[in-house]
Amino acid sequence: MGNITFTMIKPCAVSEEHTGEILSLINKDGFHFVAMKMLHISKSQAEKFYAVHSERPFYKDLVEFMSSGPIVAAILQKENAVVEFRKLIGNTNPAQADEGTIRKLFAKSVQENAVHGSDSDENAEIEASFFFSQIERFYK
Ligand code: ATP
Ligand code: MG
Repeated sequence: MGNITFTMIKPCAVSEEHTGEILSLINKDGFHFVAMKMLHISKSQAEKFYAVHSERPFYKDLVEFMSSGPIVAAILQKENAVVEFRKLIGNTNPAQADEGTIRKLFAKSVQENAVHGSDSDENAEIEASFFFSQIERFYK
């Protein structure tokens, strides 16, 4: 463990045709794709995925947004994947994200911030398991 993270390309970035460019940036940063799929999650699936944020004021909007269109979900492998991936995506708020980060390049707002990245090794495994079974994973 400690070498995977979980990501989603969010509906805003998928609908604006940024999927290819984002996947390319992830690949060029040294991440291996362990698993990947495109899908449109339901409201109740989004509620479950973001249950940890259920008390936050933005929860309802976040659930609406994440179930508003297709996403690309993926498991990524790299040494120190969680930390390395959060460096690549940048700050939650694109206004505070560093130049060259995925959110700086493609996020439109704090909510429509292009990509998700797990915040710990434990959550990476929980989130990966939400979308992928063991036989759908191809580790390097
Ligand atoms: P993610 O979990 O998607 O990688 P994050 O870890 O940087 O993002 P979290 O605090 O986990 O940020 O928030 C989850 C998501 O909820 C954010 O990515 C964003 O889409 C939305 N969000 C967070 N804070 C706000 C806010 N203040 N207003 C609106 N949406 C927000
Ligand atoms: Mg988070």
